[in-house]
Amino acid sequence: MLTVPISKFADMGFCELKLVHSLIDGARPRFRPCVAEGTRQHALSAREDAKKPYKEVSEKELLDSLRDEKTSVELPSESVRVRFEHRGTVFSGRIDKLMKEGRKVFVVDLKFGRGGGAFAGKYECQLLSYCKALRDGEVRFKGGGKGLAVFSGMELYYVIAEGGLHAGEPVPFEEARLLPRLRRFDALMRGEFERRELACGEPGKCALCEFGHLCTHRAF
Ligand code: SF4
Repeated sequence: MLTVPISKFADMGFCELKLVHSLIDGARPRFRPCVAEGTRQHALSAREDAKKPYKEVSEKELLDSLRDEKTSVELPSESVRVRFEHRGTVFSGRIDKLMKEGRKVFVVDLKFGRGGGAFAGKYECQLLSYCKALRDGEVRFKGGGKGLAVFSGMELYYVIAEGGLHAGEPVPFEEARLLPRLRRFDALMRGEFERRELACGEPGKCALCEFGHLCTHRAF
């Protein structure tokens, strides 16, 4: 079964042809220096977060607490991996930060100047997918422990925190916004397209694209 990183949906949201270069062609990206800086900031943020006095709990206590609609729980940064299956493909990923307040569960995505801002909309499918995995799929916790459909019955939201600091408005998870994108992903993987139809045609995006050096449909 094909396994795809959920983060690839950000490529699809940016330009569908980018996803083709990445997943179908297996092309090597050429990242700009700001991407390495964003990765460094991410690691720094996770190290700072790890200094918080998180309570040691058993696997059972953790799952009971997460399934309890009255508790508030903050999980360490980058400690939650998720996966779900859809029409023969497994989508998997790691959540930057997961927080729960009563019945509300928040997927917090930290951005450090890596294409947030004007192109922040590209993350929508990625973040909806994390929410779906939390509700329907498998959740694994760093250090051991896992559960299925742990957050079924909860209200799920995603939040983009630009610069890792200023959290935006929580956006509620709606499966109806995700399913057409999953169908589109299937169609792209089946090759039901002409490549030129998938190119974004936006010079501003192509200038930032890590496949711009090889893309024959690049806009200038
Ligand atoms: S260079 Fe432009 S058209 Fe080509 S994959 Fe990148 S964003 Fe899309």
